[in-house]
Amino acid sequence: SLVFDKITLTGFKSFVEPTDFLIEPGLTGIVGPNGCGKSNLLEAIRWVMGANSAKAMRGAQMEDVIFSGTRQRPGRNQAHVTLSINNSARVAPAAFNDSDQLEVMRVITKGKGSTYKINGKTVRAKDVQLLFADASTGANSPALVRQNQISELISAKPANRRRVLEEAAGISGLHSRRHEAELR
Ligand code: ATP
Ligand code: MG
Repeated sequence: SLVFDKITLTGFKSFVEPTDFLIEPGLTGIVGPNGCGKSNLLEAIRWVMGANSAKAMRGAQMEDVIFSGTRQRPGRNQAHVTLSINNSARVAPAAFNDSDQLEVMRVITKGKGSTYKINGKTVRAKDVQLLFADASTGANSPALVRQNQISELISAKPANRRRVLEEAAGISGLHSRRHEAELR
């Protein structure tokens, strides 16, 4: 599968200056006091994978992910998140499978929306979503559990619960590709 090596956040929510998180092999835990940015970091991982719901980022609009400033510090007009991926197992879709290292970047600029790059080349949101859908990770992956999500799952309607199970079974990438094929 795709192995995440590093995530870098700049101007994203509470992470103002470029901040690197190295992701070691094995299970990763994030600990810290309330409000230190744990949920923001998980949201950044979903965001760079193509999440398109502002609500899932706990905002009214997507631009709300941009650092909004504090009393001491002016806000930014851009947020960047870069996810560095080890693709030495060469499991990325064919279009991106010519290198061992993949850098996926998403940038949002106030008033201009988001753009995405993979290894420096501009791509569509859909390409990034498919990259992760095929690798059965993805912005809605069951591997990323939001706060309150467990209780939501327990009380979910069967159709919604089925979507989670399909993600877990690794077959939801098929649905994304089928949908994409229908659009053509
Ligand atoms: P808890 O343990 O309570 O779940 P947490 O570590 O998950 O806390 P987060 O929710 O990630 O904390 O971080 C909340 C902090 O991020 C708040 O201080 C909030 O003001 C700050 N924050 C969120 N969005 C922005 C933004 N756009 N600009 C600046 N700060 C932001
Ligand atoms: Mg939290």
